[in-house]
Amino acid sequence: MGVYRKLSCPKCKYVIENWGIAYQVAGQPYMNCPNCEANLDLRSYVKEWFLLNTWSKIGWILRSLYTSVFYMLPATVILYVVIDYFNEQLAREINWGFAWFLLIGIIILFILSMYWDISQSIKRLSDKEYVKILIDRGFTSEEKMNKVLSKYKISF
Ligand SMILES: [Zn+2]
Repeated sequence: MGVYRKLSCPKCKYVIENWGIAYQVAGQPYMNCPNCEANLDLRSYVKEWFLLNTWSKIGWILRSLYTSVFYMLPATVILYVVIDYFNEQLAREINWGFAWFLLIGIIILFILSMYWDISQSIKRLSDKEYVKILIDRGFTSEEKMNKVLSKYKISF
């Protein structure tokens, strides 16, 4: 979940519809245009987790939290409505249960989404060809990349 931002291919003007990101997130910093195959540089929106600066990392963490709340809040309301429908008294008795459901759900979703993004990043960076593309296209320097790879003990 993010703020909608229209991103179109500079070559064929094809609009990449489902690009819902307005700030820097963790991911692959380039893609091919689905229409004309042109190579699109996404570095202003997307960078590998390990190459994000501290503020972008904090922003990314806050957005992951926000997304977790965004999904868990309606889920909790639905759970309450369903239980209340079948057993009004039970719904009232386990009041705090809903709060815990919400809180634990947010924490679990948050951890899962962080784990997913970072493990995907590690997976991509474990690919020698991918790292070569990042360096060749100037997404990062060889020096910085070597630092990241050794810091996080990523090997090919
Ligand atoms: Zn295109």
